[in-house]
Amino acid sequence: MTNKNHLTTSWGAPVGDNQNSITAGSRGPTLIQDVHLLEKLAHFNRERVPERVVHAKGAGAHGYFEVTNDVSKHTKAGFLSEVGKRTPLFVRFSTVAGENGSADTVRDPRGFAVKFYTEEGNYDLVGNNTPVFFIRDAIKFPDFIHTQKRDPKTHLKNPTAVWDFWSLSPESLHQVSILMSDRGIPATFRHMHGFGSHTFKWVNADGDGVWIKYHFKTEQGVANLAPDVAAKIAGDNPDYHTEDLFNAIEKGDFPAWKLYVQIMPLEDANTYRFDPFDVTKVWSQKDYPLIEVGRMVLDKNPENYFAEVEQATFSPGTLVPGIDVSPDKMLQGRLFAYSDAHRYRVGANHQALPINRPKKEVNNYQRDGQMRFDSNGGGSVYYEPNSFGGPKETPENKQAAYPVYGVAESVGYEHNDHYTQAGDLYRLLSEEERSRLVNTIVDAMKPVEKEEIKLRQIQHFYKADPDYGKRIADGLGLAVPQEAL
Ligand code: NDP
Repeated sequence: MTNKNHLTTSWGAPVGDNQNSITAGSRGPTLIQDVHLLEKLAHFNRERVPERVVHAKGAGAHGYFEVTNDVSKHTKAGFLSEVGKRTPLFVRFSTVAGENGSADTVRDPRGFAVKFYTEEGNYDLVGNNTPVFFIRDAIKFPDFIHTQKRDPKTHLKNPTAVWDFWSLSPESLHQVSILMSDRGIPATFRHMHGFGSHTFKWVNADGDGVWIKYHFKTEQGVANLAPDVAAKIAGDNPDYHTEDLFNAIEKGDFPAWKLYVQIMPLEDANTYRFDPFDVTKVWSQKDYPLIEVGRMVLDKNPENYFAEVEQATFSPGTLVPGIDVSPDKMLQGRLFAYSDAHRYRVGANHQALPINRPKKEVNNYQRDGQMRFDSNGGGSVYYEPNSFGGPKETPENKQAAYPVYGVAESVGYEHNDHYTQAGDLYRLLSEEERSRLVNTIVDAMKPVEKEEIKLRQIQHFYKADPDYGKRIADGLGLAVPQEAL
């Protein structure tokens, strides 16, 4: 009989020696019959699951969400049904482009993914710390990310590829401007806002919908790192943000965010001055002011990083009744890509792992698959429809219907003003912020190998605001091109 202090093999048998392998005499060779040694080495070889292609480096924490304002007239989502209602959640913050061991304090958007364990199943809000994105059609995502990753020949980051893609994809200008601004390097995960970025739909108990956008506002205040400070920290302590989050929670300094939504009546989407589903645009808060919803507090660190953070799987398609998607083309692509990534990375049964499984019961007819470690439905009925009392659909939970129009073809959004909002951002910055933004862009563009790329990109900045473009051109020792490139 073993007890808790007795080391066992993975099949539960007591281990007699964990320091010396079985060898033929004290010089060896080692005998293949040492199955404890074989199992130990073989398991070690399999300790890593594939790294996330994006958002590989991250930190997570548990917490709760509490409703502070009654929004039940807009959504029937149970976890938002009454003021004071609390829902447990898990959050993962991350950088995007770097590998699992890369430095935290780089210039990069930050992932801001929240899993609400609601009474009606899990709801994942898989956002970033920026309100917009670089592209607005998922078909461009693999190409975009290739430019952010390593060059296939040099295995180095390639600024020419980065700016080539951006200059040829002017819809990126708004997000590029945010990324290159002071907020491109947050001081910590605690000192940044979070955004759902896409448009989503809320549906109420009468089946009436509204379009919404989510904003998490940090209660710690926005704070950023100057590039030289960030670069020094990246060398001294590449895990700076991970450590900061862990230590803050460990000492009881629980970070918190207020959640707000912007609400747009459905019919406004047809008449708004640009396409509100385009994720490269914000909805002006002058048109759609922020409405408070609740408060998120992170108050518990994970006990085990791999089990809870590395195996956590978030998908924008993990929705609950009362919350639907919008036609946003980037969101539509993510509905497939995220769950697909998790099936590849963690397995077909990833949603059954403790960190991912809902707090409520799961009743369906999915069976088997690799690593099915629960009872797999036992002997219960395994098909539908059936005459044996198996679980049935509840029609009141069907997705709200909405009309769609159009001719099926490969076609872009109709609105192509990529400049006004990037310019609005530039114009809302102080002179000091503008000057740091320009310097950051000039430094980032200097290594670009082709002048044509620099000139094309300068033109975009110029169209956003002539002062913006002119200063970048001056910094690069170039003139703003007069003819379209
Ligand atoms: P508003 O003046 O109503 O809102 C400005 C927004 O910009 C606020 O959300 C504010 O949030 C944020 N902001 C303030 N300073 C900075 C900064 N240095 N860097 C980035 N964001 C900042 O104007 P509009 O809603 O019409 O938007 C104008 C521009 O503001 C947009 O083109 C966009 O670039 C930017 N913005 C807009 C957001 C939106 O949802 N409408 C969200 C974030 C940015 P806070 O003070 O809390 O940081």
